[in-house]
Amino acid sequence: MKYCKKCKRIHNDTEEKCSNCGKSLLKITDENTPVYLLSASGFELKRIKAALKDAGIPSDNISQKHNFSAEAVTGYDISEYDILVPYSAYEKAYDICVGIGAINSGEEKIINDDGTPSNNDTESIDEQFEKMSGYKRTTVRIVSAILFLLLVAFAVYGTDFITGLIKNFFS
Ligand SMILES: [Zn+2]
Repeated sequence: MKYCKKCKRIHNDTEEKCSNCGKSLLKITDENTPVYLLSASGFELKRIKAALKDAGIPSDNISQKHNFSAEAVTGYDISEYDILVPYSAYEKAYDICVGIGAINSGEEKIINDDGTPSNNDTESIDEQFEKMSGYKRTTVRIVSAILFLLLVAFAVYGTDFITGLIKNFFS
């Protein structure tokens, strides 16, 4: 394998120039040569580095274009970093990044666990909800009407009952 000395991207032996930056490529002789894995920023960067660390893969990140003003204002580093890993750990690191969704392999399609398209599920649930809410609305109206009558009855008879108690108590 070859790699670009400037941007650290790895290339096949058949390539002469870096497809990313146009620099000439060097043959990888040292297994520990840092090579480019992917670019990330903010929380995604932390997440990827944590996943690599968990797998025992050392990683380094170099800033592409540091945005000092944004960091000064927000106190949060939002600039993009190139994550570098040793060439010997590149394939493992790549698999980890695909596993945590940091790299889209381009061949995998996101489907539900049961394999059904998500649109149909959403529609049927919506329909059920629509029916249920219509039914519920009617029920709520009837129940609240009954509750209102009960409250009125309680207010009238309850007050009489309490008044009666007080009258009995003092008589
Ligand atoms: Zn390059």
